[in-house]
Amino acid sequence: MASGRNLLTACRHCLTIFVVTVDLNRVKNVGRFLATVRFCCGQCGHPFRFAGLPYGYDLNGAAVSEDGSEARLALVPQGEPLVLVEDWRGGQLDYEGK
Ligand SMILES: [Zn+2]
Repeated sequence: MASGRNLLTACRHCLTIFVVTVDLNRVKNVGRFLATVRFCCGQCGHPFRFAGLPYGYDLNGAAVSEDGSEARLALVPQGEPLVLVEDWRGGQLDYEGK
């Protein structure tokens, strides 16, 4: 039986077991939903980084945390008009879910 340490060093993240965490919050002061997604290997727990997204927050699209481990995705309920949020940068994001 392999020890946890051997399992950690041997893992190449090739299994189909992954852990995905999604938090969904309403950003009160702009009336927008924001999903925060984290993804890691289910075998060794190593976190993954999201590639190709800008850093920070984008309530009209998608962005990532500074270390890339947390994707931040703006959400609008299906069927509702997509109204651009223009005046949010530099403001405090006020989450209902936290
Ligand atoms: Zn792994």
